[in-house]
Amino acid sequence: MDRRDFLIAAAGAVVSSRLPTGTLQAASAQTQKSRLILLGTAGGPTPKKTRSGPSQVIVVADRGYVIDCGDGVARQMMIAGVFRTMRHVFLTHHHSDHNADYGNLLLLAWGDHLTTAVDTWGPPPLARMTRLFLDLNSADLEVRERDEGRPPLAPLIRPHEVKAGGIVLKDDLVTVTAAVVDHPLVPLALAYRFDCPDRSIVISGDTRPSEALVRLAQGADVLVHEALYGPAAPGAPGSALRKHVVDSHTTVEDVGRIATKAGVKTLVLSHFVPAEDPPITDEQWLAAARQTFAGKIVVGKDLMEV
Ligand SMILES: [Zn+2]
Ligand SMILES: [Zn+2]
Repeated sequence: MDRRDFLIAAAGAVVSSRLPTGTLQAASAQTQKSRLILLGTAGGPTPKKTRSGPSQVIVVADRGYVIDCGDGVARQMMIAGVFRTMRHVFLTHHHSDHNADYGNLLLLAWGDHLTTAVDTWGPPPLARMTRLFLDLNSADLEVRERDEGRPPLAPLIRPHEVKAGGIVLKDDLVTVTAAVVDHPLVPLALAYRFDCPDRSIVISGDTRPSEALVRLAQGADVLVHEALYGPAAPGAPGSALRKHVVDSHTTVEDVGRIATKAGVKTLVLSHFVPAEDPPITDEQWLAAARQTFAGKIVVGKDLMEV
């Protein structure tokens, strides 16, 4: 098969990868319609009954860019019918609601189908975490390599540590730009912007109200932003939990303000806190965001495509 190189500009380095010519032709940049699928929309580390942990995937042509790996991400991708598109995985920050299934996603994809490279991106210590995860699962990996003839997983996974804002990745379809946001006490938290052939999509990750995010999201078609319902913030008043939640996240009214300042067309609420207990209705989320944002507002749901 004829193959052409394409380039990934990765943190100053240039990594060569390969894609079949036919795929590239089909992926004629202007005609590609991106798909954004919300895989999980619950904020916080505890498993929820009605929503999976935070994760989303953007699929352009046959290439999937996964952003965050909350609990259940592999299964959610399978249900959404996009499991085998995974080509890149981005982590916004190292809180377990966002990275608990980072390694599991790679391992389960390998058990299903994976024989080609996956680049992973996120704050340090991503490389060490990747190495330790592979080590943790060496018993399974070794047996399956022998039993099932699978290629070793470790050489397929290429972690890239992102330590600052700026362009993270540029391939023939998508440019990914990161911004450093403010999510104490996490030492480095990132938001990502995906400039796709047909539109731009920004994922906030976890952040308190952030001017860096406003700049990153300037003029974007879609902003997926975390949302906190202030009156129902978890933890007793005055408790350490309540203080963490309020100091390091963004109330839904402020989310609307940020969307307005950035001039985005569509605001997608996700990473709901609280996610289900106590239940906040769609109308409540919507009404709170509507106070400060006049554009289109979507109250996210697991497996919703935007
Ligand atoms: Zn979170
Ligand atoms: Zn967090």
